[in-house]
Amino acid sequence: MELIQNYISGQYVNAISDDIINIYEPATAKVYGELYDSNIEDVNSAVKSAESAFPSWSALKVNERSNYLIAIAEKIHSRLDEFASFESRDTGKPISLARSLDIPRSISNFKFFAEHAKNFEFELDLNSDESRNRIMRLPIGVVCCISPWNLPLYLFTWKIAPALVTGNTVIAKPSEITPYTAYLLGDICSEVGLPPGVLNIIHGKGPTTGNLLVNHKSIKAISFTGGTSTGRLIFKSASNSFKKLSLEMGGKNPAIIFDDCDYEKMLDTVVRSSFSNQGQICLCSSRILIENSIYEKFKIDFCLKVSNLIIGDPIEGSTSFGAISSFEQFKKINDYIDLAVYEGGKILLGGSQEKINGRCSNGWFIRPTIIEGLEPTSRLNQEEIFGPVVTLQPFEAESEAINIANDTDYGLSATIWTRDLEKARRVSKSIEAGVIWVNCWLLRDLRTPFGGMKNSGYGREGGDYAMMFFTEQKNTCFQNEF
Ligand code: NAD
Repeated sequence: MELIQNYISGQYVNAISDDIINIYEPATAKVYGELYDSNIEDVNSAVKSAESAFPSWSALKVNERSNYLIAIAEKIHSRLDEFASFESRDTGKPISLARSLDIPRSISNFKFFAEHAKNFEFELDLNSDESRNRIMRLPIGVVCCISPWNLPLYLFTWKIAPALVTGNTVIAKPSEITPYTAYLLGDICSEVGLPPGVLNIIHGKGPTTGNLLVNHKSIKAISFTGGTSTGRLIFKSASNSFKKLSLEMGGKNPAIIFDDCDYEKMLDTVVRSSFSNQGQICLCSSRILIENSIYEKFKIDFCLKVSNLIIGDPIEGSTSFGAISSFEQFKKINDYIDLAVYEGGKILLGGSQEKINGRCSNGWFIRPTIIEGLEPTSRLNQEEIFGPVVTLQPFEAESEAINIANDTDYGLSATIWTRDLEKARRVSKSIEAGVIWVNCWLLRDLRTPFGGMKNSGYGREGGDYAMMFFTEQKNTCFQNEF
């Protein structure tokens, strides 16, 4: 049985807490390891370590910090296959996806912020006849990064990299459901000689360890990605101390398909945008809105294409659709499928568990599920399911598509499919979401702002937005002598 330890002051350590959590492999539903539910003494020890590392880390030149990030990226790259196989084991995602998306993107996160920081304006002078002003962006101190289970290392490093390069010291908590690659990152940090205490990785459940971190008075900022209800709790807790907050939360993303789109490209991409990672990406399209004139054709073609996905053991190279990442999520998705029927929906494809022979016979597999006939106001069309379940809704006019798309509390992302770029711009402007893709999906320039509106987000990540979040501005004014 593997034991996941905390990584504090540059060393793997057992937690002081003796509460242990099981870690499961979703594809087999078997426990493969254990981790600690870290308590206040563990959190205090991580904070102490981060505090003592802060003065010397924040005093380094940006280039020196960038070099550490590049060394980390290179070390992960040299162990890409190992990281990919552990990511696949923890999440149930196909190994091909972990190899092509999760781990490469984790490497890019470190490389990108290492380079981006070199051109970031940490200092700016504003002079006038009366005064000279020096505006500085300074590291905040000890900051906390909390990440979810769907893209574990990808989202963990997306926060850690900008936090470190700006000179903060970090306490990071991965999801208790998928801790393994975050655990391995400790090893990488030691290998590259990252000074002890600069990055501390602490494990535990959200309501215990996570909550202790959020409420710790020495932690100055929280960067969180996860569910909206958790984000709301964190927002309330952090308001007591006015901690800096960045919250990336849930979504209910529309794909809007007009009849003048590049049909084949749209079809291939909408299959991906709906069912990649078993629909467990916050940016997945879960509401597919189709112009009436092509609704019937799309329905047939989409169901056929989705039925060709290869559901199977995530470790097989040919598998394109793996397991659901936790039993709770598996149960929640099944409950939503039952609710769809109760709400009057018609299941066109899937709607049930998939039984796999061999080592995965007890795994948490759900077939990709396509549903039509539900009202825009139905719970299925309003609530985030975060699984392989999409609904189809026809629309007659552009304005109707926009109304349906915006008729939810979420506002993370949307995709628009049309060859008419003027129409795409118009619709994009009217959609209440922070990230819009036109005729593509998941194409990311890491300099651009990333985040949601409404109940999907508070603040933005990416490029300068992350650099600004992880720094505090200070202006020093000198009066001109005459
Ligand atoms: P979650 O909110 O349950 O957990 C996320 C993280 O927060 C975990 O590390 C968890 O331990 C921690 N946590 C839970 N309760 C906490 C508390 N009270 N205080 C502090 N920390 C706490 O979310 P999840 O189930 O892991 O992830 C799925 C959700 O994440 C979905 O809603 C999905 O849309 C969202 N998500 C959003 C984005 C984005 O960029 N907007 C990206 C990926 C996932």
